[in-house]
Amino acid sequence: MALIVQKYGGTSVADCARIEHVADKVCAARRAGHDLVIVVSAMSGETDRLLGLGKNLAPRPSLREMDVLLATGEQVTIALTAIAIEQRGIKARSFTGAQVKILTDGAHGKARIEAIDEEQLRAALAANCIPVVAGFQGVDDVGDITTLGRGGSDTTAVALAAALKAGECQIYTDVEGVYTTDPRMVPEARRLERITFEEMLELASLGSKVLQIRAVEFAGKYNVPLRVLSTFKEGAGTLITYEDTAVEAPIVSGIAFNRDEAEITLLGVPDEPGTAAHILGPVSEANIVVDMIVQNVARGGRLDFTFTLHRNDCAQAMEILEAHRARIGAGSVVGNERVVKISLVGVGMRSHSGVATRMFQTLAREGIGIRLVATSEIKISVVVDEKHLEAGVRALHEAFKLHAAPQQDCLPQTARKQA
Ligand code: ADP
Ligand code: ASP
Ligand code: MG
Repeated sequence: MALIVQKYGGTSVADCARIEHVADKVCAARRAGHDLVIVVSAMSGETDRLLGLGKNLAPRPSLREMDVLLATGEQVTIALTAIAIEQRGIKARSFTGAQVKILTDGAHGKARIEAIDEEQLRAALAANCIPVVAGFQGVDDVGDITTLGRGGSDTTAVALAAALKAGECQIYTDVEGVYTTDPRMVPEARRLERITFEEMLELASLGSKVLQIRAVEFAGKYNVPLRVLSTFKEGAGTLITYEDTAVEAPIVSGIAFNRDEAEITLLGVPDEPGTAAHILGPVSEANIVVDMIVQNVARGGRLDFTFTLHRNDCAQAMEILEAHRARIGAGSVVGNERVVKISLVGVGMRSHSGVATRMFQTLAREGIGIRLVATSEIKISVVVDEKHLEAGVRALHEAFKLHAAPQQDCLPQTARKQA
């Protein structure tokens, strides 16, 4: 039987009863004849609790020490999960990232996996023992513990599946798969049987935290069959796959939203070559990532320049821009931390026009003003006031009929011919 990597998220290992349930599932899969490697997250809430402890002591604690601290969350659950599996008569052994030797770069808090040493895991498998590996953590080339960024256990699982050439990487979580939007916000959201890597990548990068973006990148790059399923309810979940227009190709596959947005506007900046670089240069030097950028048409040689960024970076970016305001020649700098981004994603947009118009009409009917717009081949994003988030997502979900299985008339031309 194939090797399967199974990853269990924070809510799936939230307490001993849930860990026992996970151990039952793991043992059932083992008894069905599968070779297994298990990856677990910290108990839900634990990573936040540890972050809070560090921040109690220093507003910007050392990133190296924070990684040592955060990695303890997963160390607890690997041991408990291994104990619970062994109690059921199947051999198991816990491994921290460093014990496996999941080698990363040294970027604490957002490290990237560079290599995985398979030896320990292969030896455990050969000894009929289930390895239980700590997600979210690795070790750099000087032996320091690193972490992979929030939600990073997904990436650990996919990277292990790629390294071990597993038949499938299964991400077990607290929902039954990938839905048309977050089912916690829209109860009518529908589970997707399949979604393409490309769409999943957009959804993840636009705020759907069901999978960490790097996990999807890895799975696409190394061709790892990836499935999202529920720990608590049996079912096929959602398969992330290469594009297959004959199966399910709606114009819009899903709606993502991001609450962590902020917007900064510089009013009355000179309309001259180089202004955008003068504004964004000092911001990027502080390692602050800018997302959407809009510059309006100049009047009287002056224009307004707006960009969006992560809400956590807004105060620092405002400080930087205030310090550079005179040099930039801006009238004033205005920050707004009460905005959100809503995005429609679907590979079908490539072959269909009119999606933006329908989106804008829907939002207008709800009385929702659009502050900024960005598009790519397979997505349209709008920034709106925070207070409109739920109404906006619900109205769009309804307008694009995402609660219902895709109909024939939703298929793009190429698929319609095949269907
Ligand atoms: P885990 O702890 O198992 O890693 P996460 O909280 O990271 O779980 O991810 C699962 C959550 O993702 C769900 O509880 C759901 O609220 C959220 N989510 C956001 N968008 C979607 C979506 N399109 N489909 C499914 N879940 C989504
Ligand atoms: N425990 C980490 C977090 O909460 C990693 C994960 O759950 O994937 O972000
Ligand atoms: Mg997660």
